[in-house]
Amino acid sequence: MVTGPRTLAQVSEGDLLAEIFPYFAAHDGLLIGPGDDAAVIATGGSVVATTDAMVRGRDWVDEWSTAADVATKAFTQNVADVAAMGAVPTSLLVTLVADPQTPVQWAVDFACTLGRLAQESSVAVAGGDLSSAPTGTLMVSVTALGDLGGRRPVLRSGAAPGDTVAVCGTLGRSAAGLALLQQDLGALAEVDGLRAECVAHHLRPVAPVEAGPAAAGAGATSMLDLSDGLLRDGDRIARASGVRIALDSELLRPDTDVLAQVVGGAEALECVLAGGEEHSLLATFAGALPDGWRPLGRVEVGEGVTLDGSPQAPRGWDHFAG
Ligand SMILES: [Mg+2]
Repeated sequence: MVTGPRTLAQVSEGDLLAEIFPYFAAHDGLLIGPGDDAAVIATGGSVVATTDAMVRGRDWVDEWSTAADVATKAFTQNVADVAAMGAVPTSLLVTLVADPQTPVQWAVDFACTLGRLAQESSVAVAGGDLSSAPTGTLMVSVTALGDLGGRRPVLRSGAAPGDTVAVCGTLGRSAAGLALLQQDLGALAEVDGLRAECVAHHLRPVAPVEAGPAAAGAGATSMLDLSDGLLRDGDRIARASGVRIALDSELLRPDTDVLAQVVGGAEALECVLAGGEEHSLLATFAGALPDGWRPLGRVEVGEGVTLDGSPQAPRGWDHFAG
């Protein structure tokens, strides 16, 4: 008889939870954690809430992404959204919907990484849900809550002409990493530091989470995280605020120069402008930029996004158009 890895079909829900719960450490803000019908979370005021689901075959493929990679991406997507509102992430709710033939180890690895990232960021894993799914289906969903700490939320609609457009974090790394993965899987074992960095950014993105509430405190007039590309996300601020986002290609040089070494010059600019899943923060400021932020251009009277004065179509990642 051939014995493969232990699957979810071979363990009870209680057994699986007993394997997973130890990764979700106790947390001061979590008054009642997993084990009751619902969690109870301490909160001082306004709560920011966001959710993001990832589906195997659509948001990741097993050939490229481990359970730890999927957990990292799910964590980052959610805490970046909380940070982009100017809030501090406080707790997560996690749902796993899986084909019973999914290896138990996948669920355990996912929980282990999510629990570690949460603990490193002082975020509580407050609870979640397990559900079985048709053959081949594997889906994870993370809901994140955050605390504004008495600050007003930073919306997409507050940018005003004269503001500086700025970014905290890299541009185009994830898209360059994706391009490398699509080019040549076999050679990835031998990639150099910069290429490996781009691939890692695509598989395991890290967001500058602490910069979000700091930017809110420093008076950011609008903010979002770059999940769908600089042009598409910039256009979201432009539309919500009724302004033009005017980008300056000279200010993009720190990113395009680096990525040109990885994917070539023309592709580097495309990665910077249209590359998704970067999870850096894009914001506008009326005054001086806080530490860690660098200018990309100006907010002007008008509409849409321009590069050196030329209107740019808001291309980038779209979940349904692909
Ligand atoms: Mg976002």
